[in-house]
Amino acid sequence: MATKRDYYEILEVTKTASSEEIKKAYRKKAIQFHPDKNPDNKEAEEKFKEAAEAYEILSDEQKRAKYDRYGHSAPGGFGGHDGGFSMDDIFSQFGDIFGGHFGGGFGGFGGQRGPRANRGSDLRVKVKLTLKEIASGVEKKIKVKKYVSCSYCSGTGADNGTAYETCSTCKGSGVVTRIMNTMLGQMQTQSTCPSCNGEGKNITKKCVHCSGEGIVREDEVITINIPAGVAEGMQLSMSGKGNAARHGGVNGDLLILVEEEPHAELFRDENDVVYNLLLTVSTAALGGTVVVPTIDGKVKVTIEPGTQPGKVLRLKNKGLPSINRYGTGDLLINISVYIPENLSDSEKDTLTGLENSPNFQPSKSVKDKIFSHFRKMFD
Ligand SMILES: [Zn+2]
Ligand SMILES: [Zn+2]
Repeated sequence: MATKRDYYEILEVTKTASSEEIKKAYRKKAIQFHPDKNPDNKEAEEKFKEAAEAYEILSDEQKRAKYDRYGHSAPGGFGGHDGGFSMDDIFSQFGDIFGGHFGGGFGGFGGQRGPRANRGSDLRVKVKLTLKEIASGVEKKIKVKKYVSCSYCSGTGADNGTAYETCSTCKGSGVVTRIMNTMLGQMQTQSTCPSCNGEGKNITKKCVHCSGEGIVREDEVITINIPAGVAEGMQLSMSGKGNAARHGGVNGDLLILVEEEPHAELFRDENDVVYNLLLTVSTAALGGTVVVPTIDGKVKVTIEPGTQPGKVLRLKNKGLPSINRYGTGDLLINISVYIPENLSDSEKDTLTGLENSPNFQPSKSVKDKIFSHFRKMFD
C-alpha cells in the first residue's frame, strides 16, 4: 500500500479539532467526492474512501488517541478496516453523518453491487508473555473455540450445499431499489432485500449438520506471531482469523490482547527495565563485583568504591526493543544499600569506633550532591 496521508490533512482540520468540526469537515468531503457526483472518476473515489477512513479513526475517541500517539503504524492497527475501506463500510457510516437511514447504500455507484456477505464476529483472546518473550518476539500457538465453515454444506447452510434458490424478490441481487430524497438531492437508493436479508438466495432445505447456519463451533489451533516490544494492554489483530460468518460470508478478525507476566526481580518502565540492587555496606564502601539479573541471563557489574545509594547504573540496550523498531531500552540498576539489622557485640564496637573517624562523616559537597539527587525525586 502506498504511504498514507495524515488524517487531519485529509479532512483539512487541525489536530485540536472538536468532534463536531471533524464531522462537518467529513460531510463536506463526502459530498464533494461522492461517486454520484463524480461518475467513473477514480481519483474522486479514492478521495472519498480516504476521507471515510480518516473520519472513522478521528471520530472514535480511542482510535484518535491511538493515532495521535503512534500515527499510521499504531501497534495492532485500528481494527476493522485495515484491509482497506469498502464502499459498504462507507455507506454504513452515512446514517451517522447525514442523519436518517440510507439502507444498503447509494444507487448509481457502479450500479451492480452484488448480494451482501455476512461478516463473522471478531474473536478475542489474551496471551500472557514473559519479559523475555517480549524482548525477542515469540510465536504462540493457542487453541480457540470458534465458528468455522460447515464442511458438509461448504458454509452455505443449504443441504448438500445445493438446496437453495435465487431470491424472487430481488432476483438474486440482494438489494431493492427506490427513489429517495436526501440532503444530496434526489437519489436512487438501494436497500437490503427484506426477503433474503441481502443474501440474494433462500435456502429450501437446511443442512442438518449446522442447522442451516453454514457454521459450526470447533477447536482450532492458531499460530500467532507476537512482535518484539509489545506491552501490557496492547491489542494485535489478525485479519480473517476470527469467527466464520453465516452462509459463507467473510470471517471476522482475531484480536489478541497482550498481558505481561510479572518478573520476579525486574520491572518495566516503557522500554527500559529496572532492577533494584541492594548492596552491602562494605561493598558500597570498598567496591567490588556483583551479579545482576537481566532479561536474558545474569551479568557481572563493577561497583566503584564509595558508591552511594540512589545512584543509577545504566546498561545500554539491555532493555526491551521498541515496537516501532526505533532502538532498544536500557537496564537501569538502582543502587540501594542494606544496613545490617542484627549485629554482634564486637561488630557494634567496631562501628562505634568508626563513627568518630572523619572519613565516616560526609563532606559538605557530598551532602549537597545527595540532597540535590533526593530533591529530583520530588520533581
Ligand atoms: Zn452445514
Ligand atoms: Zn432477496
